[in-house]
Amino acid sequence: MRIFDPHIHMTSRTTDDYEAMYAAGVRAVVEPSFWLGQPRTSPASFIDYFDSLLGWEPFRAAQYGIAHHCTLALNPKEANDPRCSPVLDVLPRYLVKDNVVAVGEIGYDSMTPAEDTALAAQLQLAADHGLPALVHTPHRDKLAGLRRTLDLVRESALPPERVLIDHLNETTVREAKDAGCWLGFSVYPDTKMDEERMVAVLEQYGPEKVLVNSAADWGRSDPLKTRKVGDALVKAGFGEDYVDQVLWRNPVAFYGLSGRLTLDVPQPDATHEGNSILRGTPKTEA
Ligand SMILES: [Zn+2]
Repeated sequence: MRIFDPHIHMTSRTTDDYEAMYAAGVRAVVEPSFWLGQPRTSPASFIDYFDSLLGWEPFRAAQYGIAHHCTLALNPKEANDPRCSPVLDVLPRYLVKDNVVAVGEIGYDSMTPAEDTALAAQLQLAADHGLPALVHTPHRDKLAGLRRTLDLVRESALPPERVLIDHLNETTVREAKDAGCWLGFSVYPDTKMDEERMVAVLEQYGPEKVLVNSAADWGRSDPLKTRKVGDALVKAGFGEDYVDQVLWRNPVAFYGLSGRLTLDVPQPDATHEGNSILRGTPKTEA
């Protein structure tokens, strides 16, 4: 089973996770920029984070045979902080970089006017840079959040077939699908979708434009949820080709819209800017 996790925050995860993900079949990931839990106090903090998503993290992933790309944006939560919003002026020089395969994650958190402004501006940035957009939907007021998101997409220069609406569930999938967007589902241990509900959604709506992700981050989450969905699909009687479409070909097709997706993992460099993932000299056979 080959797996592409289209939304995972590897910065928050350990090398053990990379190892386990590779063993489970994960060969490619996309890491969206997001909120770090601790509020940032300036655009400079975003710049170092973006550089890390473009440098250190792909280097780390390559050590484990996994292709790593990222999506960059001002996240919905910090769009409300005037100390952070000037990062919107910095984004254009980052969105031209090869490893950036979408603008994201953008969208709504509390549905404030500041979030409206940031979302509209970043949909425009995606259109200007020939990139698709990864759009987060809020955890509260899900349907209202989805509708407001779809309104902004309709008013934007970005066509819906270049938009992935993420964190969908049974209440929001229909309207997102009818709007012509790509459909993302985050499978979490306790909240959002679980494996069984994911199988039921696929049975009802079919596999077209559906992407499944672990959205694993610094909170309670599981980087192997993509594989667990694959196993649940097999158990429910779906064939290999169907599983491959959902877990591999759909994310390849969506992020491929950027024209920048490269899935072969290069021979890993021993170091990145002089630093390696090793701690001291490796043990040698006696
Ligand atoms: Zn996320």
